[in-house]
Amino acid sequence: MRASGVGVVVLSCSDPRLNPYQILGIDPTLKATMVRNAGGRVFDAIRTLSVSQTIGTPGTIVVMHHTDCGMTHYHDPAIKKALIEIAPEEHESIEASQFGEIITSVRADVAILKASPLIKKDTQIVGLKYEINTGVLMVVDGEIKSEL
Ligand SMILES: [Zn+2]
Repeated sequence: MRASGVGVVVLSCSDPRLNPYQILGIDPTLKATMVRNAGGRVFDAIRTLSVSQTIGTPGTIVVMHHTDCGMTHYHDPAIKKALIEIAPEEHESIEASQFGEIITSVRADVAILKASPLIKKDTQIVGLKYEINTGVLMVVDGEIKSEL
């Protein structure tokens, strides 16, 4: 896939093994916006994704998850337990939080974006899954209507 990157926001995992520019073929000198967090989760990025729609013209949001993601190996109860050990005074807020374990597909995150009142309805939303061992990129949800 070759992509210009203009008007594209890419949400992906912060895993250092991923290079979204390289995987998607986006020229890093152009204006693609990169948003990264643990797992590439939408709920954790909705503020940034919605704000980007007020200061730019993103026509496409790409949500890219990947295989062997740490967030498929560590689940919310274990993360909460570890965080409570670090900050016991934050017990209540930690218990009330969501930390982004991945137990569903990228389709769930695409559905959250499509249902969000903060995301423009004409935004193209594409869900991708990157096979980290083979380098194969799969379109899971949506379609790539034009170059990114
Ligand atoms: Zn990951």
